Amino acid sequence: MSFRCAACTLFRRRCQQDCIFAPYFPPTEPDKFELLHRYFGARNVAKILQEVEDNQRAQAIETMYFEARSRVEDPVLGCYRIIAQLRKQIRETEAEIEKTHAAIAFYAHQPHQRNHF
Ligand SMILES: [Zn+2]
Repeated sequence: MSFRCAACTLFRRRCQQDCIFAPYFPPTEPDKFELLHRYFGARNVAKILQEVEDNQRAQAIETMYFEARSRVEDPVLGCYRIIAQLRKQIRETEAEIEKTHAAIAFYAHQPHQRNHF
């Protein structure tokens, strides 16, 4: 029985034993490789896989896949929209923390309040 990963299936070539795509693109998920190929190019996907450590390759693929899907959902901003939303959330949370620290400092210096703690 011959195994062909999604990348080799797409390119109609024999999947070699050392195929760099095989561990990350099983034939059961052809859409994943197709999307990455469309947005980054198979050559760049292979290049990134070669540049990262073995234990980071699966995460690198998932990150590229996330970025490509974000681009499908929002062709203009892609994942930047999500990053901007998260940055806004961080700023709001930091402001909330600052207000809470100020309130704690204020109540800590109230002589009447101190006796209740
Ligand atoms: Zn292959």
